[in-house]
Amino acid sequence: MKFDGDEIAMEVKTFTFNPFMENTYLVFDHTAEAVLIDPGCHDKREQEELTSFVEEKGLKIKLILNTHGHIDHVLGNAFAKDKFNAPLWIGDKDEETLRAVEVYASNYGFQNYQPASPDRLLTDKDVIEFGNSSFKIVFVPGHAPGHIAFYNEAENVLIGGDVLFENSIGRTDLPGGDYDTLIDSIKTKFFKLKDDMVVYPGHGGTTTIGIEKVSNPFCRIG
Ligand SMILES: [Zn+2]
Repeated sequence: MKFDGDEIAMEVKTFTFNPFMENTYLVFDHTAEAVLIDPGCHDKREQEELTSFVEEKGLKIKLILNTHGHIDHVLGNAFAKDKFNAPLWIGDKDEETLRAVEVYASNYGFQNYQPASPDRLLTDKDVIEFGNSSFKIVFVPGHAPGHIAFYNEAENVLIGGDVLFENSIGRTDLPGGDYDTLIDSIKTKFFKLKDDMVVYPGHGGTTTIGIEKVSNPFCRIG
């Protein structure tokens, strides 16, 4: 049996965590099944903020996803895997980026970084399913070599990671970064999505594909 309420949209809850001001996204629908994307929570207060939201809403986190393996996006991977008993998935070409965090975490002042191994490696052929919802995957290298993003066309939701920001783009001076590759990813992948697709970036506020197409100083077209 189908009720009108079955069509309730995907909800996107944003947390901003750690000294890098990284956006962690929790996406869920009316079934209460959720995916946790780029858990950047690292101290007790941040872990509690995430946990209390999940508990208050009665959510079941089915999957933990990483758009890419940089430290600010993965600080909470081990905590979340353990706390929510959910597997961690990341793009197949960014597993190395994730593994490298162990080596440099202490240089950034994160002496207590707990590494977490991915349970599955994703390609852009895979589809993420949770509740009555799904995400397609787009491969968008340039900021990180194996960066992926998750989108749902019907809901106009693009969890974009550090590719395209409001009026800006992801940095390309970190290992594996490449400016031309990033611009190409934006123009040939993101800009092929609908103009009213809402971009939920890894840092800063939301924007849309249409707005960035005309106004982004790094990659506007026409
Ligand atoms: Zn990054």
